[in-house]
Amino acid sequence: MIEENIKNKKQTILFLNRRGYSTFVMCRNCGYTATCHNCNITLTYHMKQDKLKCHYCGYERKNFKTCPECGSTNIRYFGTGTQKLEAEINKEFPNATTIRMDIDTVTKKNSYENILNKFKDENIDILIGTQMVVKGHHFPNVTLVGVIAADSSMYMSDFRSNERTFDLLTQVARKSR
Ligand SMILES: [Zn+2]
Ligand SMILES: [Zn+2]
Repeated sequence: MIEENIKNKKQTILFLNRRGYSTFVMCRNCGYTATCHNCNITLTYHMKQDKLKCHYCGYERKNFKTCPECGSTNIRYFGTGTQKLEAEINKEFPNATTIRMDIDTVTKKNSYENILNKFKDENIDILIGTQMVVKGHHFPNVTLVGVIAADSSMYMSDFRSNERTFDLLTQVARKSR
């Protein structure tokens, strides 16, 4: 459907509610997983800076090539974030234009509004983003919305997570009307 949309010069929004490249890094030899010392949650791999970051408290450390526990180099990356999704889309559709919107691409100079205006005005083929893409704006040329790993936000430790997931999905689905 994305291919069809690109051919017809229609726009697509891909929604994935996890930023970063890989959502966790694990040693396949001993099972060590990089976690935040403050929050005890897994650190997310950011490829461009080659860093591991905690998305809750902001703690970050350099990525490792050998396991800090056992010294093995058998390190694997799991879980897809928006950075990896963008890389995969660029590989799959090399002629398509893409733009990514998440906390890592939105800056003072490159504001939320700027990114959305660019997407609209330059008729960029695919917008990839976290839940930031859900709010506001009407894009008449968007005819396809893809939700990647739609159920991932249902397992957060929040008693409203099912309700929130439903709310997000109905909002993002409305984008392609
Ligand atoms: Zn290890
Ligand atoms: Zn933390």
